[in-house]
Amino acid sequence: MKKLTILGSTGSIGVSTLEIVACHRDKFEVVALTAGTNLELLKKQIEEFSPRLVAVLTEASAKKLAQMLVGRKPEILFGVSGLIAAATASDTSMVVVGIVGAAGLVPTAAAIQSGKDVALANKETLVTAGHLIMRMVKSHGVNLYPVDSEHSAVFQSLQGHRRSDVKRIILTASGGPFLDYPMDKLANVSIADALNHPNWSMGRKITIDSATMMNKGLEVIEARWLFDMPGGRIAVNIHPQSVIHSMVEYLDGCVMAQLGVPDMKAPIAYALTYPGRLPTGVKPLDLTEISGLTFFKPDLKRFPALNLAYRAMADGESMPAVLNAANEVAAAAFLAGQIKFTDIAVAIERTMDTHQPHPLASIEEVLLVDRWAREKSRELLGIKNL
Ligand code: NAD
Ligand code: MG
Repeated sequence: MKKLTILGSTGSIGVSTLEIVACHRDKFEVVALTAGTNLELLKKQIEEFSPRLVAVLTEASAKKLAQMLVGRKPEILFGVSGLIAAATASDTSMVVVGIVGAAGLVPTAAAIQSGKDVALANKETLVTAGHLIMRMVKSHGVNLYPVDSEHSAVFQSLQGHRRSDVKRIILTASGGPFLDYPMDKLANVSIADALNHPNWSMGRKITIDSATMMNKGLEVIEARWLFDMPGGRIAVNIHPQSVIHSMVEYLDGCVMAQLGVPDMKAPIAYALTYPGRLPTGVKPLDLTEISGLTFFKPDLKRFPALNLAYRAMADGESMPAVLNAANEVAAAAFLAGQIKFTDIAVAIERTMDTHQPHPLASIEEVLLVDRWAREKSRELLGIKNL
């Protein structure tokens, strides 16, 4: 029986994880759940999965949740200390991190430091603090399993091979809703247009990141840390059908790829049960139903955010954390109708231009630079704290 804490249980990753748990009650038990603002859904999840601990964002939400629940209640905590308590619960063996944004960093670090295996969907953790997190994983002897579909595909394509034989990693990208959109109209796309992803159903922030292709940029940095691969050996191929989830090319010219229909339940289940596999209910892949698989290089003029991520990775040190924070601010400002779609990359670039990268020796130092970059990008955009 694997005992799980699910951070961000009301989000897209959290809900998919609980769907897998619901189908395999003999294999998983839910110890703790955490959520942001969707108390109605959290209440339903508590009734269905009976965690002994839950955590929400604020004290007011914790009180409200306590009033909403009838019968036996779990312990209800709130704030960052609540997230940490859930991530480090003594009876938990694996923590699934489905929180969005840099808010995932502190509880992920806490989980690793308390000896938990981690199934990591939250890519911002490795983007902001990859070197610190990977060092912690080693020193605490825990396993960090990728949930992001591309990284799960790379992880699967590495099984049974020697790392020293790897030539490069090729991440695939759908290209999002604006792959063929007229360039001169990109500035005026609506929020609904940007949220209309062709292949994947995901949370709002990652869906905007997919439209700018910052998502792929963050994933390149994530891959750099997960697989200890220099950025120059991580390529991105646009593959609009999202059937090949990523590839590993070896020294002899052979390429291993992982295929499947785009459904996060498959990579989540693999992270939960590695090296075993479970039925997930994911629709089978029938290649005869697909008219063709296409691949091409990304257009960096159309997707400047991808270029910025490569630049941040090359600059190193604190720059990826600055890239990430500025992107979080700009994506939220776009979703709030405060800036245009094309302003997202401009805001990130300007924030990066004002930053002199410096080494980050602790999670606290990462949080400081994260805060600095948020304030700087808000100032440059002329917007208030959302
Ligand atoms: P989502 O917005 O659907 O869900 C986010 C969850 O985190 C919710 O439960 C929310 O309540 C919680 N949350 C938000 N802000 C929080 C905060 N400050 N403190 C604590 N909890 C907070 O997001 P998602 O699409 O499930 O994505 C989650 C993470 O997984 C992201 O980092 C994303 O990049 C990554 N990811 C998602 C997918 C996907 O298919 N959705 C695929 C690959 C990677
Ligand atoms: Mg992905």
